[in-house]
Amino acid sequence: MATVEVTVCDMCHQMGKQTQTFTIEGAGMLATLDLCPEDAAPLLRLQEAAPKPEVGAGVRGRPRARETFAATTMEEIDALKASGKA
Ligand SMILES: [Zn+2]
Repeated sequence: MATVEVTVCDMCHQMGKQTQTFTIEGAGMLATLDLCPEDAAPLLRLQEAAPKPEVGAGVRGRPRARETFAATTMEEIDALKASGKA
């Protein structure tokens, strides 16, 4: 027996329409939806309105909050304890 797998739009459930898969994260939930072009249009408009990530900005390019804090080594902590300041 042959098996035919059909993906339909999660909004309108109409067969024969091409769908695109969207993963949406926010408000404490993660959803994966298959949407036809008509039902995907609002999401695509939101995507266009969203601020674009900087080209080439990776983990290295982002300012890291940790860099603003002074690091204290264990040796320095021991030295402070030994001097009675901590
Ligand atoms: Zn649809």
